[in-house]
Amino acid sequence: MIRLIKPYLKYSEVEKEFREIFETGIFTRGQYLSKFSEDLKEYVGAEHAFLTTSATTALWTCLKILNVGPGDEVAIADFSFPATANVVEDVGAIPTFVDVNPDTFNMNLADLKKKITNRTKAVIFVDSLGNPTGLHDISVFCKEKNIPLIEDAACALGSYENNQMCGSVADLTCFSFHPRKLLCTGEGGAITTSNHEWARQLKIKLMHGGVVDNRIGMDFVDFGYNFRMTELQAVMGIKQLKKLDAVIASRNNIREQYIANLSSLNFIPQSFGKSVGCNVQSIVFKMPDGYDRDALIGYLKGKGVEATLGTYCQSGTTYYSRRYQKIQPTAMSLEKNSITLPCYDQVPIDYIVNQIRTWLLLF
Ligand SMILES: *Cc1c(COP(=O)(O)O)cnc(C)c1O
Repeated sequence: MIRLIKPYLKYSEVEKEFREIFETGIFTRGQYLSKFSEDLKEYVGAEHAFLTTSATTALWTCLKILNVGPGDEVAIADFSFPATANVVEDVGAIPTFVDVNPDTFNMNLADLKKKITNRTKAVIFVDSLGNPTGLHDISVFCKEKNIPLIEDAACALGSYENNQMCGSVADLTCFSFHPRKLLCTGEGGAITTSNHEWARQLKIKLMHGGVVDNRIGMDFVDFGYNFRMTELQAVMGIKQLKKLDAVIASRNNIREQYIANLSSLNFIPQSFGKSVGCNVQSIVFKMPDGYDRDALIGYLKGKGVEATLGTYCQSGTTYYSRRYQKIQPTAMSLEKNSITLPCYDQVPIDYIVNQIRTWLLLF
């Protein structure tokens, strides 16, 4: 099977450090976590970075330090993995689904303007499939309105807009290191911010609510959680962050090759703004008019090619559509008509394109 993505890390690259971790017994809160968070904040240009167990726990913790709860609304980009809405739902607030731009797949500013109210406690912008297009416009608007902006950059490590890396634009940015993303630590995530007060609170929240007290070990000044990454994962992160720019260059190259082949077949690629560098976390096209996306995915599967939808219309999932009846039309149309194709070094593009061409001729 030609998979959607393959890991960019070999066991031999981490073997030495893994052995050392087993020998010293330091599996948590050691030198590798310090180094990975230092490297990460330097890479994205933020003042602070915290490593977590996932993007979901990262997003959830951000909502907690912003005190989002019952009676509040959080405006979220609708075309995303449902973790974006789930964290809002879980803290008892109402997710306000904001529709997306049909070309970039990202939060539509005009729709956001219509939907914010005096109960809107935060906005979550999603870099759809790694694409940060429009992030600065949303950021300017949120600053004007004095609403904190959280960036769900689960897919977007290494992407930038206007020469500013994802991780240094929004008030709080959350990343994922799940195997479907470009940098994989098994499970894992991070929060970056340049706000010192929120950083102080995040440190406490992620440490069971405690601060180090020299007399008694810990002073628990708040309630909190353990959403911390392990040393083994941090080693994996350090190694891959060094290679990330090369990985991104290669993925952009593969995307160009797909576009060169599929444009003439009327597949339309997700579009990026002029001042955007995208990490191409996924290669996603909109289907040619009148062709059934699910039938193509099924056909490709039969030919040994893994393919999937772009991502989800959150407002249209069984749970959220029943609960709020607010299905966003553009996000829904993208969920139905987008397709993600395999992308990794040496992916056989010619074979995949030929299968797609053959399928189109069946009609
Ligand atoms: C993958 C993803 C998540 C969830 O990330 P985890 O690390 O698995 O929690 C959240 N939001 C978006 C946009 C994603 O793509």
